[in-house]
Amino acid sequence: MKKHPWKNLDKLKNAVRGKKIILFGPPGSGKGNRSRDLEALGLVHVSSGIALRAAVKDDPESDLSKNAASYMEQGALVPDEIIVPIIMEHLSQEKCQTNGFILDGFPRTQAQAEALFSKIKIDLALYLDVPRKFLVFGIIEGNRRVCVECATGYSDFDLPHIEGVCDKCGGKLVTRADDHIETIEKRLKLYDEQTKPFLPYIKVKTALEILPITLRDEEDIDEKYLKTLKGQVYWVETDQGVKARMLNLEGMRERLYNLLAEKFL
Ligand code: ADP
Ligand code: ZN
Repeated sequence: MKKHPWKNLDKLKNAVRGKKIILFGPPGSGKGNRSRDLEALGLVHVSSGIALRAAVKDDPESDLSKNAASYMEQGALVPDEIIVPIIMEHLSQEKCQTNGFILDGFPRTQAQAEALFSKIKIDLALYLDVPRKFLVFGIIEGNRRVCVECATGYSDFDLPHIEGVCDKCGGKLVTRADDHIETIEKRLKLYDEQTKPFLPYIKVKTALEILPITLRDEEDIDEKYLKTLKGQVYWVETDQGVKARMLNLEGMRERLYNLLAEKFL
């Protein structure tokens, strides 16, 4: 991994202040964790999944909650009429305007993308490129668990220091209700059908950068940046059918910060 092209984190924080970034990637590609990394730079995290789950939790008896919850439980997309106003309301808040934001899980349909771009100028779209083989495997076999407080994700590939407890905030780690095989397959299918096809449109509207999780064979890298399973470096089959090593949480953070530095510093 390249050495930091920035001298200290404050310099990078200043450079990204006020930037408006959207994150793309299928379920299990690490959107939540990249969002944490971007939040650490001072950007406000706006997640459609978290916003929806919060709306349902706050007022479970409302028509909106019951309606949204029924889609979410099935792993189906919540209708645009429900999600678009919720997200636009979040983004119009003062803190998002001044600090900048990272938008995670939205837009997921062409109509959502049009609603967003008609109102807000986005500085960067990041696409999280993760081998297909790893998406379901990482969630199910890796036993994905998330922090109830700050939503940081862990798995057997990225273990917390103390089992059941979030490294960052001490919150409790739980398995998400929709993290079972049928729902994940369905969410992946929806991603392929509805979200992936409008990436070319995003590219027309803003700068699109790819952030791969795999490494090239010859890349020389400290093992502390690699995903391991039961103490061994983990190799995944890529979509091109070759074997590659993958970056872990720390490695991906470095790769992301390097990219932002190249872009904005
Ligand atoms: P994941 O990316 O792992 O599928 P999220 O937490 O982003 O999970 O979303 C959970 C659920 O919330 C989705 O399966 C869907 O039902 C709903 N949802 C989230 N974002 C959107 C969106 N932009 N449009 C429609 N439904 C959404
Ligand atoms: Zn936490």
